[in-house]
Amino acid sequence: MKVAVVGLGVAGLSICARLALAGHEVFGFEQFEPMHTHGSSHGDTRIMRMTPGEGDVYVKLARRAGDLWRTWEGLAGQPLIEWTGGLMAGPQGSPFVEACVRMSKRPAAALRGDAIHPLTRGYIALPYDWDAFRQEDSGVIAADATRAFLLRRAPRWGAKLYHGLKIEGSIDGPSLVINGDKRDFDAVIVAGGAWGARLLPEFAGRLAVKRRVVGWFKTENPRLLPVICVDNEVGVYGMPSPRGLYKLGLHSVGGATDPDNVREPDDDDAAQLGEQVEMLLPKHDPVPVRMARCLYTVTPDEHFLIAPSAAHERVLMFSACSGHGFKYAPVFGELAEEWLNGKPSPELEAFGLSRRGDVNRLGSVKS
Ligand SMILES: Cc1cc2nc3c(=O)[nH]c(=O)nc-3n(C[C@H](O)[C@H](O)[C@H](O)COP(=O)(O)OP(=O)(O)OC[C@H]3O[C@@H](n4cnc5c(N)ncnc54)[C@H](O)[C@@H]3O)c2cc1C
Repeated sequence: MKVAVVGLGVAGLSICARLALAGHEVFGFEQFEPMHTHGSSHGDTRIMRMTPGEGDVYVKLARRAGDLWRTWEGLAGQPLIEWTGGLMAGPQGSPFVEACVRMSKRPAAALRGDAIHPLTRGYIALPYDWDAFRQEDSGVIAADATRAFLLRRAPRWGAKLYHGLKIEGSIDGPSLVINGDKRDFDAVIVAGGAWGARLLPEFAGRLAVKRRVVGWFKTENPRLLPVICVDNEVGVYGMPSPRGLYKLGLHSVGGATDPDNVREPDDDDAAQLGEQVEMLLPKHDPVPVRMARCLYTVTPDEHFLIAPSAAHERVLMFSACSGHGFKYAPVFGELAEEWLNGKPSPELEAFGLSRRGDVNRLGSVKS
């Protein structure tokens, strides 16, 4: 089939690579240059969790992704994930921590907050009565290295990738206007991230674009720490990053934004991040070494939205962000292929528009 993919973030690149490998004629379009920093996929690192407490559908997705990550690493000739282990934490009774324990089936790894300080040699501190859970199968994804790998690999499998080419919305059927000419395809997949609803406005009410800021923090004697996901009001998440730094973000802090006009990180961002560093990372300097902005495209329930257009069944909205999609990137190509082949799957059902029943069984989302 002749397939157009609009948007070459990690989702669009994964889709291009997989569909090209499967023998489709694939055309990928990206408005910015390769490895740009305007959307959701840029940056050195992302958190990998093989047993995400967000729900069974994500655990299955992560397991599928785990196998494919190994294949990608083999093809890339370099590790793309460092398995540092993870600490999932929250106030006593946190539903997220409980879900992590339940899904991991390893109750022995459940801890109380006061155990964390000595366990991490004073690098991580939690309130003494909090719940915490150690996940050995968590780690850090080399995010930019993954994008760079896909940018090399997808064309090798035959995908034609065009950068600096903006597709004008709204998309009306399986055709695109490219440099003023209308070109027809058998299917169009919109992996446009924060710009997705401009291309398919029928989804606008379901996709909010939010500004997020991450910061990198230093300590005098760096050591390899686990990733952390904290179930508090700001949703702190953190991960070791290159050069001995620790990167921290706040899953729930940041307002709506125009994706073409995003405010740069400022002193308020530094103060909000620094406050969490003072609390959780007592050996780190709470003043960030640097900060970066990033976009979340958030659905009302924070679960992915992968659904065909109501008007044109060969046009697919593929929105896998809400701040937690990177870890599943290798499966995105497979999901797109299942949709293209008309093959139903529990994942496509769970992330579709008529998902009410499934979503009720899904938990709150972390990075
Ligand atoms: C701060 C932050 C922290 C995160 N942390 C984690 C984490 O720890 N773990 C995890 O698993 N996930 C994490 N995520 C989520 C993950 O990064 C996203 O799920 C993923 O990057 C989404 O990729 P995407 O390809 O859908 O979007 P994007 O990377 O934004 O790609 C969309 C692309 O479409 C292009 N585009 C849009 N419109 C057009 C057009 N009209 N014409 C041509 N091109 C167009 C854009 O330029 C863009 O390149 C985080 C996200 C952020 C922002």
